[in-house]
Amino acid sequence: MTREEIIRRFKSLRIWKSSGERAPHKPLLTLYAIGRLLHGENRLISYSNDIEDNLTNLLRTFGQERSNDQPHLPFWRLQNDKVWEVTDADRINETTSGDPYITDLRNYNVSGGFLEEIVHEFQIDANFAFKISQYMLDHFPASMHQEILQAVEIPTFVIEPQPPNPNFQSDVMNAYKEKCAVCGFRIRLENQPIALETTHIKPPEAGGPDAEENGLALCSLHHELFNKGAFTLSENLHVLVSKHTKGKGTGDWLKKFHGEKMKFPPHQIYYPRIHFTDWHFKNRFRGPAREKI
Ligand SMILES: [Zn+2]
Repeated sequence: MTREEIIRRFKSLRIWKSSGERAPHKPLLTLYAIGRLLHGENRLISYSNDIEDNLTNLLRTFGQERSNDQPHLPFWRLQNDKVWEVTDADRINETTSGDPYITDLRNYNVSGGFLEEIVHEFQIDANFAFKISQYMLDHFPASMHQEILQAVEIPTFVIEPQPPNPNFQSDVMNAYKEKCAVCGFRIRLENQPIALETTHIKPPEAGGPDAEENGLALCSLHHELFNKGAFTLSENLHVLVSKHTKGKGTGDWLKKFHGEKMKFPPHQIYYPRIHFTDWHFKNRFRGPAREKI
C-alpha cells in the first residue's frame, strides 16, 4: 500500500454526523492507537483490557455528546475504512445494525490495530504518523489540539502552540448572547452591556485556551463567586454551590441556583468542555458542594 493510499483512507474515514456535529469516535481511536505505536507498544490492542476504558475516557473528555461514549463502535467500524483490523472478528456476533455485541468483544478477548502495512510505514517514519495525526485533529476545534495530543501521548512539539485570541471576550459575549450564564442578568447602558464580564474556566496560566468552550459570560457578582470558588459547574453543566457559603442574600443570589442546570448556555458547540470544568472543580472550587436540595 502506498503512502498516498494510506493518506486517502484516513482522510476519507466515514464519520457519523448528528445535527451537524461530527462524531469524535474514529479520530480519537486513531490518535490513541498512533500514540501507543509511537511509544513502542504492540500493534494489536486489547479491547477489554485497554481500549474500552481508555477510549471511554477520551470520548468523555473530548466528545460533544457526553452520554454517547460507546468505544465498541469505532473499534468495530474502523474496519470498514480499511485501516484497522480486529482479531477473531468472525467469532463476534453482530446486532441487526451491524454493531458488535460488547459481551463478545470482552469474552473472546479480541484485540484491534491498524493494518500491518500501515504500522510498518508509521514505524519507519514517525513524521508520517504525525501527518496522519494532524488529519485526525482536523476533526476537532484548534483550541483542543494541544490537550488531545497530550491525552494520547503524542509529542506536542509537532503542533504550533495556539496564539492568544484577541477576540476571546467578544466571542464569549456573543456565544452567551450577552447574558450571565447563571442568572441571565443582562442590562445595557447606552447599548453596551454593563456589569457583565467574561472569564476563562481554566485560566490561560494553567494552559486553558482562549476559546468559547473554555469561557463563560457572567454578571459581576457571579464572576467573582466563580473565580473565588464559591460555585463551580458539574460535568453536566449543573451549578454546584459550596457548602461553605453563608450570609444574608446567599439564598437569593447563589443558593437558589444550586443543582440547576446552567440556565443560559450557548449553542451546543460552545458548551464548556468537561476537561475545563473538571479543572475548575478540582483547582478552584471550595468544595464540597451543598447537599442536594
Ligand atoms: Zn449572574
